[in-house]
Amino acid sequence: MSNLIAARETSTQRVLLGDEAVAQAAVDAGLSAAYGYPGTPSTEIMEHLLRRSRRATPGEGPLARWCANEKTAYESALGAAMAGGRALVVMKHVGLNVAADPFMNSALLDLHAGLVVAVADDPGMHSSQNEQDSRAYAEMAHVPCLEPATQQEAYDMTRRAFELSERFRTPVLVRMVTRLAHSRTAVTLRPPAPERPHLLPADPTAWTLLPANARRRWRVVLDRQRAIERYLAKEGAEADLSMLTLRPGADLGVVTTGLARGYLLEALNGLEERPSHLHVGAYPAPEEALRRLAASVDTILVLEEGQPLLERRLRGILTTAVEVIGRETGALPQDGELTPDTVRAALGLAERPHAELTEPLVLPGRPPQLCTGCPHRDSFTALDRALGAVDGMEQSGGPLVTGDIGCYTLGALPPFRAIDSCVCMGASIGMARGAADAGVRPVVAVIGDSTFLHSGIQPLLDAATDDTDMTVLILDNGAVGMTGAQDTVAPSSRLEPIALAVGVHPDCCVVVDAHPRKLDQMTEVLQQAIEHRGLSVVIAARECIEHARLRKRGAA
Ligand code: SF4
Repeated sequence: MSNLIAARETSTQRVLLGDEAVAQAAVDAGLSAAYGYPGTPSTEIMEHLLRRSRRATPGEGPLARWCANEKTAYESALGAAMAGGRALVVMKHVGLNVAADPFMNSALLDLHAGLVVAVADDPGMHSSQNEQDSRAYAEMAHVPCLEPATQQEAYDMTRRAFELSERFRTPVLVRMVTRLAHSRTAVTLRPPAPERPHLLPADPTAWTLLPANARRRWRVVLDRQRAIERYLAKEGAEADLSMLTLRPGADLGVVTTGLARGYLLEALNGLEERPSHLHVGAYPAPEEALRRLAASVDTILVLEEGQPLLERRLRGILTTAVEVIGRETGALPQDGELTPDTVRAALGLAERPHAELTEPLVLPGRPPQLCTGCPHRDSFTALDRALGAVDGMEQSGGPLVTGDIGCYTLGALPPFRAIDSCVCMGASIGMARGAADAGVRPVVAVIGDSTFLHSGIQPLLDAATDDTDMTVLILDNGAVGMTGAQDTVAPSSRLEPIALAVGVHPDCCVVVDAHPRKLDQMTEVLQQAIEHRGLSVVIAARECIEHARLRKRGAA
């Protein structure tokens, strides 16, 4: 830790990333267990908890575990909460798609111990394949969502999320975004919460979603939603979750969420007339405050990070002729992150003064690349040679190489241009199967070991059942390379047994060394696998060099 950071910390203050503030709040709230799957920008929440649990005396402090995927993580957290322990589950926004089944259904359970779902969205898609907004999931599930605007709020709101969860016996979602998750400032901590006894549910029927029970529980959820709205409208204002400031005579009202509050405050000095302002930090949004704002202004500008959910909601509840503008009307860009400049433009302010360049600044392009020495480089080289060598085989529309999510997605770029698709975790194998079923030949699915364990096993089961004419190339580097080289949930030695267990024929499952010295052997194995009529699996194994470096330092 730098001297500067150390000097700024006091006994109750820590300099924390937004992600670390969430993790620390969970610990201080009496966390029993945390589960997650690595994914930018949420990874540092679990990293903080894992560092802490490694330092703790065995049996003391919260347990933290990486899981096979977000669904298994969610279910583990749910089980911990069922056993009466406060639980945290951590994922990035697209991970919530994977965990959507238990997430949606857990809203119907009668939670008696806090369950907080920390989800980090990635507006601007710095490291993601879409810009989906997790607030929409919270609304669909009928669970509260808290949206911090600062690292301090990330801490305070996560602690409040556990309290809300236990008060209303529901999961509570804490929505982070990249810029908040990955920036650091001093955060004031509160004393830890007292321990609570771990008890099993008093009424197991409220945890057994048979249709008759589920219908009864759904009614409870709908009634609970009204109670949560009333509570947040009253207590949320007192707790500064949502804040309304009406300025008599103001024509403009501004609604902010999350980081947009900071951008608005930064721009205020440039405005001749201060607008009325409602900051929304908790959902369901405070409808009464929105109506009061609308009744006092002519125009409402909605500044929200993500999709125009609040903007649409506002139009739906207003009966007065107030103009609502935001991302949907073009007052702000529909995509990407909000910035101080886009917010200034929406407020009608001129661009901030900036230095003009006397000469055009031309920087050399630097596309993202696999690390020098990365084993994927050798695997892609071998795959390219193998596909080139099977020219003589009967082809139909191919070759097609479906890809997946990990460092190896960079194989789609020059110089390799080895991958033709990347959609979601595990999709490479299912898509390859569909393409092979449609008659394309040859078809190769390229998937990393962690992604295979996350979502690739089930589609391999499908392909094995039908002996689909395709090849699965598992790039086994023993790590979740893209998110910081975390350990995978199962060691390399278990990949081949897993492939055989789901039905891959032993003669068609080969492990090769993904080493430059073994390039010819790897090429030959891949060529034979591709030429085989039916399902074949090649596991190209060599450790991620970043993981090896961490392992040698004792950090992996
Ligand atoms: S982090 Fe590991 S897997 Fe990712 S590019 Fe670097 S060496 Fe390859």
